[in-house]
Amino acid sequence: MTAEIVTTDMEAPDVWRDAGFLALNAGSSSLKFAVFPAQGETALMTGQVDRIGPEGTLKIKDGEGRPIEPAAGALTSHDTALSTVIATLKRELPDLEIAAVGHRVVHGGIHYTAPVVVDEAALETFATLSSFAPLHQPHNISGIRAAMEAFPGVVQVACFDTAFHRGQPLVNDTFALPHRYYEQGVRRYGFHGLSYEYITGEMTRIAPHLMAGRVVVAHLGNGASMCAIYRGRSVASSMGFSALDGLPMGTRCGQLDPGVMLYMLDQEKLNTAQIRQILYNESGLLGLSGGLSNDMRTLEEADTPESHRAIDYFVFRIQRELGAMAAVMGGIDALVFCGGIGENSRVVRRRVCERLGWMGIEIDHGRNAESATVISSEFARTTVMIVPTREDLVIARAARASVGVPAKDPA
Ligand code: AMP
Repeated sequence: MTAEIVTTDMEAPDVWRDAGFLALNAGSSSLKFAVFPAQGETALMTGQVDRIGPEGTLKIKDGEGRPIEPAAGALTSHDTALSTVIATLKRELPDLEIAAVGHRVVHGGIHYTAPVVVDEAALETFATLSSFAPLHQPHNISGIRAAMEAFPGVVQVACFDTAFHRGQPLVNDTFALPHRYYEQGVRRYGFHGLSYEYITGEMTRIAPHLMAGRVVVAHLGNGASMCAIYRGRSVASSMGFSALDGLPMGTRCGQLDPGVMLYMLDQEKLNTAQIRQILYNESGLLGLSGGLSNDMRTLEEADTPESHRAIDYFVFRIQRELGAMAAVMGGIDALVFCGGIGENSRVVRRRVCERLGWMGIEIDHGRNAESATVISSEFARTTVMIVPTREDLVIARAARASVGVPAKDPA
C-alpha cells in the first residue's frame, strides 16, 4: 500500500510562492473544483461543471466570489470539462503552477485510512472498489485519469470519504449477514468522511474540551448523514454500505427495511435499474413531498401538508439517530450542525433540538436565528454548534502535504 501522508506545521518556504493546489470532486455528471495557494484557507478560484454532456454548464468564481467568464471549450466529458477549467485557470492566473491535485474518492475500501499519492497500482485498487460504489467510483477514477493527462508528472492525491470511519468498532462495521459477506467487504463504511475530518480539526481548534469528549456531527446537505465522534474518532455513522443508508436525503431514501426491496422485486416485478432509480433519485424529501422538491429551502417556503410531511420525517430521523448515537457514546457533550441545511436552516435546527432537554440540549432561539457558532442556551448541558464544513480544504491540505508544503492553516 502507498505510504500515508503526514503534515507538519511551519511557514511555507518562498519556493512555493507561485504554487497552486487543485481540489477536484468528480461526480457522475458534475465536476467541482477549487484552486488554493500554498497556504491559507481562501480559494483563488472555485467552480462547478454541471450536466457534463451536450447540455453542460460551467460556473466559475474568483477568490472574492465574483463570477468569471469561463474560457471557450467543450463540457461533453470529464476530460473536456477539465480542459476548459484549466484553460480558464491559465488565463486568469497565468503565473500559477499546479504543484499537486487532490481528488475526492468516494470509496477507499477496508484498507485506506488516510489520503494516498495515486499511481497505476492505486488506480487498479480503486477500480476494484467500483462494485461497492458504482454510481460514484468510476467517475472519481475518470477525474483522476483526466487530471493525470492534463498535468503530466504532477502528484495526484486521493482523499477517501470512507477513511475517517475505518477505525469503527466491529459492531458498527458489520451487518448481521452470513460472515462471508463481511469478508467480501460488505461492511458499513460510512461516508462524508472529508467533512467529518474537517469538523474534527476545526472543533479541536475552537473547542478542544468538547472534541476530547462525545460529539455528534450532523452533516445535513443534499446528501445527509450523522457521525458519532468519541475523543476525535468515528465510532458510529448513519451511512452504511452505500450512500443510501441512514437519514433521508434530497432524493435518497435513507434507512429502509430490506423487505421493501424484496416487495419491489417480487410483487412489483421491478428490475434493479428501476429500483436504483427509485431509491437514489425519487425518494427522500422529493418522494415524501409528493414530488414537490428535493430542496429544503423550497419545502420550508411551500408550507403545505406535503412539505410538512417531508420535513417532519427528516427531523424525526435525525432525532432518532441522535438518541442512538448518544447511547453508543454513553452521553453527548456537543451536537454540531453542518452542510447546506445544517448551516442555514434555522427551522430544521430548532425542530431537531425540540424536546431534547433530557439530553441536555436546549437552544437559544436568538442565537439560532443568527446562525451563531454556539446556538445552545447558556445553561444547557450539551453545547450545540454550527461549524461550516470545507471538504475542498481537506483535499487541498492533503495535496499540499503530498509535496511537503508545511501546513499553516489551522488544520
Ligand atoms: P448542500 O448539499 O450541502 O449544498 O446543501 C443543499 C441543501 O441545503 C438544500 O436542501 C438547500 O435547500 C439547503 N439550504 C441551503 N440554504 C438554505 C436555507 N437558507 N434554508 C434552508 N435550507 C437551505
